[in-house]
Amino acid sequence: MSDETMNDIDQNADVQMQDVMKDADERAPRSKNKTFFRKKVCRFCAQKAKIDYKDSDGLRRFTTERGKILPRRITGTCAKHQRRLALEIKRARAICLLPFVAD
Ligand SMILES: [Zn+2]
Repeated sequence: MSDETMNDIDQNADVQMQDVMKDADERAPRSKNKTFFRKKVCRFCAQKAKIDYKDSDGLRRFTTERGKILPRRITGTCAKHQRRLALEIKRARAICLLPFVAD
């Protein structure tokens, strides 16, 4: 066996090792894969802030740039306030403070 073939085999082994490592990574819990993680606290519980349809700038932070309401798994809003938030965003849309769809 020449040296070249030996090198080839070694490289293959390396590639296989990397594949195994990648697999292990994918099986790891999600939190380990996240590069950025911050404990989410419901903004309305924490600040005791009222959710108001007239506060369009405040509500806009809970919508995507396309105008969709962000799910609470993203914003960290609690169930109670998420329901309220959705209602207020829909009110704000009805009086054109927020867009239904922005493009
Ligand atoms: Zn809350």
